[in-house]
Amino acid sequence: MKDYYKILGVPPGASDEEIKKAYRRLAHKYHPDRGGDEKKFKEINEAYQVLSDKEKRAQYDKYGRIFEGGGPEFQASANWFDFDSFWQKNFAKGAGFGFETLEDLFEEFFGFSQRKREDIRRGEDLEIVVRLDLRETLKNQKKKIALYKYVVCQRCDGKGSEPGTRLKECATCRGRGEVQQVKRIFFGTISRYTVCPTCKGEGYIPEKPCNVCKGEGRIRKEETIQITIPAGVDSGQVLQFKGLGDAGRRGGRAGDLYVRIHLRPHPKFKRKGDNLYTVIEIPYSLAVLGGEVEIETLEKTVLLKIPQGTEAGEIFKLKNLGIPHFSGYGKGDLYVKVQIKTPKRLTKTQKELMKKLQEEGL
Ligand SMILES: [Zn+2]
Ligand SMILES: [Zn+2]
Repeated sequence: MKDYYKILGVPPGASDEEIKKAYRRLAHKYHPDRGGDEKKFKEINEAYQVLSDKEKRAQYDKYGRIFEGGGPEFQASANWFDFDSFWQKNFAKGAGFGFETLEDLFEEFFGFSQRKREDIRRGEDLEIVVRLDLRETLKNQKKKIALYKYVVCQRCDGKGSEPGTRLKECATCRGRGEVQQVKRIFFGTISRYTVCPTCKGEGYIPEKPCNVCKGEGRIRKEETIQITIPAGVDSGQVLQFKGLGDAGRRGGRAGDLYVRIHLRPHPKFKRKGDNLYTVIEIPYSLAVLGGEVEIETLEKTVLLKIPQGTEAGEIFKLKNLGIPHFSGYGKGDLYVKVQIKTPKRLTKTQKELMKKLQEEGL
C-alpha cells in the first residue's frame, strides 16, 4: 500500500501548507527536466493530487488507497475513487470475484458501513417453524413458545459491566471500533477496515465485566414468548415478530423472530390459496333423483343440495366455507366434488330392484 504521506515526507496530520511546501521541494528535486527520477516524480505528483484535495484526502485518510500497481487506469487520478468504472473494468464481465453487487464489493473492501456499525450490538434474528392444523387457520391463534435465546442480563441490566463500574475506551482500536487490515490481491493490495476484535466494534469495553454475562450484557436462557398467528396463514409463509429475537449486546436492539408456518396435511381437505377442496360419495339413487346430503366442512356440518341427474365428477361450490383471507377481509370457498358409490354387494331386494331398473333401461 502506497503511503502518500511518506512519499511527501510529511506526518499524517500535516497541514495544507506543510504538504504544499514538501511537494514543491520534492518536485523541484525530482523533476525529469532537471535529470530527476521520472517514476519518483510521478509518485510525488500522485500523492500531492490526493493530499492537496480536501475531499480526496479525507477519503484517503478514511479508507486508505484501494489498489496499486495495476495498469494506468489504476493510477491515482481525478476519479481514482470512481467505483462505477472500476466495477465495469474489473468485475462486471465476470471476473469471478463472487461479489454480487457493487454494494457487496464496497463492503468487502471497506468493511462495514456506518449503518452496520450501529447494528453491531443488535441481537440476531431467530427463525422457528410453527406447525398448525388446517382448522387453526380459521381464527387468530395465540401460541406460547419456549425459545432458547439470548435475553438481557438481569445483573447488569444489559450494560455488560459489574454494577457500580464503568466502561472504558478500547485500547486495541482506541475507541474507533474498527481496525485496518491490508490484504494482498492479484493486482496489488487493498486496505480495509474491519470490526475491532476486542470490542466487537463498540469502541469501548467494560472496566470490569459483569460476573454473570461476562460483559456481553445478555445471557442464553429459555424464555416463553406468546405470539398471535393471524387467521389465514398458509404453509411456507414467514411472519416477522419485531424484537422477539436475541437480545442485543450491551443494551443493543433485539433481533426479530421469524416464524415459518407449516400446515399439517388434512385427511379430507386440500388447500389451494384460500380455497378448500374435498370429495364426497353419494348413492346412485341420490344422484339420479336429487336431494340433500350432509357434509362436513372444516368448521361445521352443512346440507348440500344435489340436483336431479347429477353426474359423477361434478363439482359444487360452497361460498365462504374456505380459509379466511390473510388480509382479514373475506374468505375462500369450498369446492365439493361428487363421486357416485357403486355398491359392491347388494341385498336380495336391492338386486331385484336393480333388475327392474335394468328392464326399464336404466
Ligand atoms: Zn476496539
Ligand atoms: Zn451482565
